[in-house]
Amino acid sequence: MDPLRVGVIGVGHLGFHHARVYTELLNNELVGIVDVNEERAAGIGELLGVPSYSDIDRFFKVARPDAVSVVVPTSEHHAVASLAMEYGANVLIEKPVTTTVEEAEDLLARAESKNLVLQVGHIERFNSAVQHVRNIVKEPLFLQSRRMGPFNSRINDVGVVLDLMIHDIDIILSLVHSDIKDITAMGRPVRSPLEDVATAQISFKNGALAHILVSRVSERKLRQLEIMEPERFISVNYETQDVSIHRCIREKESSMMEVIEHPVFAKREPLKLELQHFVTCVREGKQPLVGIMDGKRALEIAIGVLRQIHAPGTPEAAGARNL
Ligand code: NAD
Repeated sequence: MDPLRVGVIGVGHLGFHHARVYTELLNNELVGIVDVNEERAAGIGELLGVPSYSDIDRFFKVARPDAVSVVVPTSEHHAVASLAMEYGANVLIEKPVTTTVEEAEDLLARAESKNLVLQVGHIERFNSAVQHVRNIVKEPLFLQSRRMGPFNSRINDVGVVLDLMIHDIDIILSLVHSDIKDITAMGRPVRSPLEDVATAQISFKNGALAHILVSRVSERKLRQLEIMEPERFISVNYETQDVSIHRCIREKESSMMEVIEHPVFAKREPLKLELQHFVTCVREGKQPLVGIMDGKRALEIAIGVLRQIHAPGTPEAAGARNL
């Protein structure tokens, strides 16, 4: 079997890791990396021992990749992914899929017309703790998610909703199998012109409720999900990939005993699982676990959240973009 020819477009903070992981996976060959920053491209190319390009058309013509990761800033996702598909490449596009639903729909139409795999990089779906929890969650009643970290000026084209909350929206949608009834949200800019802290409450038609809190201006890094079911409470630490399950067992008439389980499962690098899945889907012509429809649904909810945060009359509206 010939190795799948893969490439990475945009080798900044995350794109470097895409390129690194492709060099570690079997059955594929990293045939090139491309970045508009020529120096950056050359440096990463040298480090990984792969050809580097700063001209994207030249990259496609010379490297001829079958599949590419698109890891450029979100505002450029649509243009770069469209071009990749023009050249007939299957695409893994980082999250959030695009900045507008129309752009996501356009990518879907292009992928369908060319019969190409289009996966969206909602990496938390490949977190081993999330994969374990997905198999055991039965009836989530209340979900509470917190994702916080220090300020980083690198991501300046989107606010915290499209940067961080989109992860939590996607995970919650994958666990609650019901349509959304209502969304209420608030947010504030703190260190950038866009919202840097935000909170959203989502109610579902089946009665489930979700509360999400995100911040990119907090000293402490925290990535946590708690799921309440009728008989138990499940806690997920995205960073350590730990899961704990709390149950209350009635001991005697009046006393309860709390039992905490820590399930044991293999913990693997989520990016490696995600890219391996992409390569397998391209090879076997399969639909990816996180396709464009999932990316689009998460984006629609995120845009619903943004509309409330930046509604005319709110202090944040002045800084609103990408709505
Ligand atoms: P970054 O700024 O560090 O890197 C982006 C790189 O793309 C830069 O090196 C830049 O020179 C290059 N670039 C810009 N336009 C280009 C173009 N048209 N063609 C080729 N190269 C181009 O940003 P980052 O943090 O790596 O984020 C990139 C994307 O990955 C964003 O969409 C972001 O939301 C996403 N991301 C996802 C996760 C996750 O958890 N899944 C984490 C971080 C970032």
